[in-house]
Amino acid sequence: MSNMILFKSASVASTRSKELEVCDVLVKEGRVESVAVNLEKKDGAKVIHAEGKVLLPGLFDLHVHFREPGQTSKENIFTGSEAAINGGVTGVVAMPNTAPAIDSGGLVRSVMDIAKRNARIPVYTTGCITKERKGIEMTPIAGMKSAGAVMLTDDGSPVSNPQLLRRAMEYAREFDLPLASHCETMELSGQGAMNEGRVSYQMGIPGIPAISEEICIARDIQIAEYTGAHLHIQHVTTARGMEIIRRAKNDGVHVTCEVAPHHLIFNEEHIIDYDTHFKMNPPLRTREDNERLVAGLIEGVFDVIATDHAPHTDFEKRQQDFASAPFGITGLETALPSLFHYFIKPGIFGWDLLVERYASQPRSILKFDEVAVAEGSVADLVLFDPAGATTFSREFMRSKASNTPFLDQTLDGSVDMVLSHGDILLERDAD
Ligand SMILES: [Zn+2]
Repeated sequence: MSNMILFKSASVASTRSKELEVCDVLVKEGRVESVAVNLEKKDGAKVIHAEGKVLLPGLFDLHVHFREPGQTSKENIFTGSEAAINGGVTGVVAMPNTAPAIDSGGLVRSVMDIAKRNARIPVYTTGCITKERKGIEMTPIAGMKSAGAVMLTDDGSPVSNPQLLRRAMEYAREFDLPLASHCETMELSGQGAMNEGRVSYQMGIPGIPAISEEICIARDIQIAEYTGAHLHIQHVTTARGMEIIRRAKNDGVHVTCEVAPHHLIFNEEHIIDYDTHFKMNPPLRTREDNERLVAGLIEGVFDVIATDHAPHTDFEKRQQDFASAPFGITGLETALPSLFHYFIKPGIFGWDLLVERYASQPRSILKFDEVAVAEGSVADLVLFDPAGATTFSREFMRSKASNTPFLDQTLDGSVDMVLSHGDILLERDAD
């Protein structure tokens, strides 16, 4: 094997310490061979001078929409996975709200086959809880599991029938699959397009109240407690919802949860001029929610950071009014620089938190092997330049879609290099 790579004087990020450790790291035959101060140069090794740059494990995103099959004008598995690589993400879990929805073993298998052919990183898929995500009839869970589905979810829609959700959780428990909930009470959300509150009244846009999400979180946790299933709550946005989860965890319920970068950074006050790049579901909440979610992330209530990467075409997002445009923004390419820019650089949290919540715990929720900058680990690595900057121009982005609030904005930091299983998938020229 030829691909030996030696990183000289990299600042290594890990879950072990808030401090970055300056080390040399040798990658050989797809694995991290050694991590030590002052490794000797090996013959044939490509040397990367990494002084001042952060070397971290490849990120893993538990929540992305790649739109294949059926909606490939928005994104496909190839472009979505290339967007992931561009953002330092080396593994993803795709949601099943495609057309058709991924609700059978055959569809799971066909998505896995496309991913193996077209993606340079592992792309895993979820399977629906209910057929066509209609909330009426349960899917063949055993068949989806044996075809390779890693999680069950009707993401985008809650399972409103509690008896059906109870049965699905019983199956999820028997088949050892986490069941992920998009928590929303449709009768309360109605035609809402943003958070219900002062700003929605000012804008004259129907609102989605916080209790729409919170009631569903509380109900799903009770069903998880009753059935003993592993419930994973997706994209939590409200402080009260987070507190319900914190209490359940303290009570020993098997519940994990995620938060999206945009719900940490933005709130309803950022929606200026009816800009649809700030329209997502669940919606941006209040400034106080931002602050409390960040505190909850630091305290460990949130197990994982996940983007909910939701590509849409320019027509859908830009040429329709706020009420009609679809929910969702892309996130894979902007997540790491935005978390660095808004939180790590100002010292609000450290690299250890980012590595734990966006690399280690998402894999551990799926019972995958840990990936770390440590001897013996698979060499999924990201070299990040904290002194760099990234402008999210159309030319920069590899996603088919441009629906991000960071479009044409510049953030601090840049993903300089990405390795998956020791192969260099991205190497950005230094200027
Ligand atoms: Zn969702």
